[in-house]
Amino acid sequence: MKQKRAYKYRIYPTDEQKQVLARIFGCCRFVYNWALRQKTDAFYKEQQRLYYKDLSEALTQLKKQPEYTWLSEVSSVPLQQALRHLDKAFLHFFEGHAEYPTFKKRHDQQSATYTDNAFRWDGTDLMLAKMHAPLDIVWSCPLPKGAKPSSITITKDCASRYFVSILVEEDIPQLPSTDRSIGADLGLKSFVVLSDGEVIGNPKFFREDEKKLAKAQRRHAKKKKGSKNREKARKKVAKIHARITDRRRDFSHKLSTRLIRENQTICVEDLAVKNMVKNHKLSKAISDVSWSEFVSQLEYKARWYGRHLVKIDKWYPSSKRCFDCGHILDSLALDVREWTCPECVVHHDRDINAAQNIHAVGLTVFEACGEAVRPGTVKAKPGTPQRNRKAS
Ligand SMILES: [Zn+2]
Repeated sequence: MKQKRAYKYRIYPTDEQKQVLARIFGCCRFVYNWALRQKTDAFYKEQQRLYYKDLSEALTQLKKQPEYTWLSEVSSVPLQQALRHLDKAFLHFFEGHAEYPTFKKRHDQQSATYTDNAFRWDGTDLMLAKMHAPLDIVWSCPLPKGAKPSSITITKDCASRYFVSILVEEDIPQLPSTDRSIGADLGLKSFVVLSDGEVIGNPKFFREDEKKLAKAQRRHAKKKKGSKNREKARKKVAKIHARITDRRRDFSHKLSTRLIRENQTICVEDLAVKNMVKNHKLSKAISDVSWSEFVSQLEYKARWYGRHLVKIDKWYPSSKRCFDCGHILDSLALDVREWTCPECVVHHDRDINAAQNIHAVGLTVFEACGEAVRPGTVKAKPGTPQRNRKAS
């Protein structure tokens, strides 16, 4: 079965290419923000919902106005794609997985997506529309032989590094099936706790970086607005942030690949942002991002390799429920790491108990759906029977 897979590489654009990219990033950002404004206004003023088609037509009209002719000076494809990205952001919002879309800022990560009518790939070189030379790509791993990229995305992160992400369709060989399954609780104290008792992700691994980041942020905040030193401090913050993101992503890739290899079915909690406890602490913000990245990695790797990921809705009281007897506590404060069940007197480690519950309910959901489910993600909906049974 053909699967879509993105390959990401570092690129080193020439000064000329940097200028072209800066313009295209700026135009994409403008179009995205303009469309977000249109959508929001249309809804508040006329209770009307604008879709991609409406906005695409409005954009064509906008480009005809004399003060917006500069929008026609760049390739039109990434601008259309910016509208698609906004559509996706709204979809995530309506599904409850993300907050309401916000305006993109100049200092955020920048991106532009080109579909295959706006770039040329000859098997060695990648050439973008309106550019005179191919991109200088660091091929850290090869693209599959004969790959035909369907779209490519250029990004510039906050630390001013450029990347290209190449989307290709390929045959990914499925892993031999196994009868092992596991539940994973995404914790605050450790990154992940498994239902078999394994605790993964020593927080010390991340904490040192976080301290450095907090220090750099404090320094940045103290500098005078608009000053050169403030800009320098901002770059420093961005650099540390980028390193943390890279390290975490690497960690999460290794772990998700391992779990997918070892297990046929993996059960996790669905992390609807909406339902998450609001906490603006830095470390919490970073964990949120890496968790959702981890879950999405499990999601697509399950699809690739013929495994199953079962997502349990947040309504399920995984922490408060005793795995051994099914008793549910009225409340359990976040800082309580261990507790004893008043009903059956079993002593629980908070996270392992939660992982065991997630595992058990996940398997129940999975069995209820039958073996006929396609590889990929299975979602537990409210009302799913929660039998009091132990996972084997
Ligand atoms: Zn109990």
